[in-house]
Amino acid sequence: MPDLPGTEGLDAPVRNDAAIELVPELNLILVGPPGAGKGTQAEKLTEDFGLPYYATGNILRDAVAEGTPLGKKAKEYMDNGDLVPDDVIIGVILEALESDEAANGFLLDGFPRTVPQADALEGALENVGRKISGVLLVDVPDDEVVKRLSGRRVSKSGRVYHVDFDPPKQEGRCDIDGSDLIQRDDDKPETIRKRLAVYHDQTEPLVQYYEDRDLLRRFDGTRSPTDVHDHIRATVATLRLEDEL
Ligand code: AMP
Repeated sequence: MPDLPGTEGLDAPVRNDAAIELVPELNLILVGPPGAGKGTQAEKLTEDFGLPYYATGNILRDAVAEGTPLGKKAKEYMDNGDLVPDDVIIGVILEALESDEAANGFLLDGFPRTVPQADALEGALENVGRKISGVLLVDVPDDEVVKRLSGRRVSKSGRVYHVDFDPPKQEGRCDIDGSDLIQRDDDKPETIRKRLAVYHDQTEPLVQYYEDRDLLRRFDGTRSPTDVHDHIRATVATLRLEDEL
């Protein structure tokens, strides 16, 4: 049986299954413009709280690489910096959230991205007596996003570099596997502008949507990744406590 958070160092705590069920599930959503550092934060948060992580951008990129029917439907939209249609992505995420792995909590990144997606998520959770615990907005101004994303390079294995902020030892080559670094099609400057426009137009309304539900928590994504993480972790711990009370 895994240790319960906060019980480390206590003498043989008495636990039973009923007690474990009392620990409220954490159903979290990361929101923010492209390049805000959501992926970096997600990596840390999944470790902190042991949550399964669903990043729709990664799921879709894998589907494109594997040439699955989902990938075939999504590719053109993604290359253009457009959102894939709601009905394509909603089914994928709702299915993931029904899995055993997600039964005690989850972290979503990149979903929901539109109000219809948020409505679909809320409805599906409500149907099974679950709810969102918190929505974490990592905010970064547009010019910073352009700087970050246009310098981003990725290796075959998915390791991410930045030509200025985190360059590889040898230009254009991955430090780990030596493969050529490439620029994602959607990280090209004209596509970044498009993605930002799509974010402001279609995703930003979710800020108000979740504020109205008192679920939104804001974080300054221009701070260092460690600062942002400390702030988010403290906030999530508080959300969990509030839920327990
Ligand atoms: P990301 O890596 O999250 O920036 O996602 C990359 C691309 O995948 C986006 O520009 C969209 O084309 C697509 N995508 C990811 N998540 C969604 C979503 N929830 N709804 C629609 N399209 C999405």
